Amino acid sequence: EPALPSWTQLVRDIHDFPKPGIVFKDITPMLADAQGFAGAIDTLAAPWRDASIDAIVAVEARGFIFGAPLARALGIGFVPVRKPGKLPGRTVRQTYALEYGEDTLEIHADALHAGARVLLIDDVLATGGTLDATRALVERLDARVIGAGVLIELAALHGRARWNGTAPLRAAWVV
Ligand code: 5GP
Repeated sequence: EPALPSWTQLVRDIHDFPKPGIVFKDITPMLADAQGFAGAIDTLAAPWRDASIDAIVAVEARGFIFGAPLARALGIGFVPVRKPGKLPGRTVRQTYALEYGEDTLEIHADALHAGARVLLIDDVLATGGTLDATRALVERLDARVIGAGVLIELAALHGRARWNGTAPLRAAWVV
């Protein structure tokens, strides 16, 4: 087993957030640490440096924190996926099931060229609904999902089972 990257030590558990019984992975101490944040970006970038990715697609809000510097690190563009009503141009929307209820995400309809090689990024894979809905949005624009990268996979929530992509889903840290 390779040693865990040192930024993982800067992620703390917050019990009973946002609801009783939930243990929330709080990444803010890692973000506040120059080496920790840089290390996390390096970890996310490493598997994809030679993958000829054209664009990073990431979901508000925490996905933006990692997706934007990663796009800079790879020298490519950044495309935001947002909650409904936030993007000003014409959008495509995708609704997906939550534990209780449903949620919707949007992307600009002209954000990606057909055939663009896309990498999806988020901080945490929990139930997997967010990442798989993002995959569906990108594919509806006829772009190609080359992979997905998350910093932390919460294995107990089985988010990986929700991933309908054929591309690899890589987690830097599985807990
Ligand atoms: P999912 O759709 O996989 O259930 O939830 C993923 C979304 O919720 C991600 O965008 C992620 O930012 C957020 N999320 C869920 N659980 C946690 C957690 O423990 N820590 C953090 N930082 N984000 C979480």
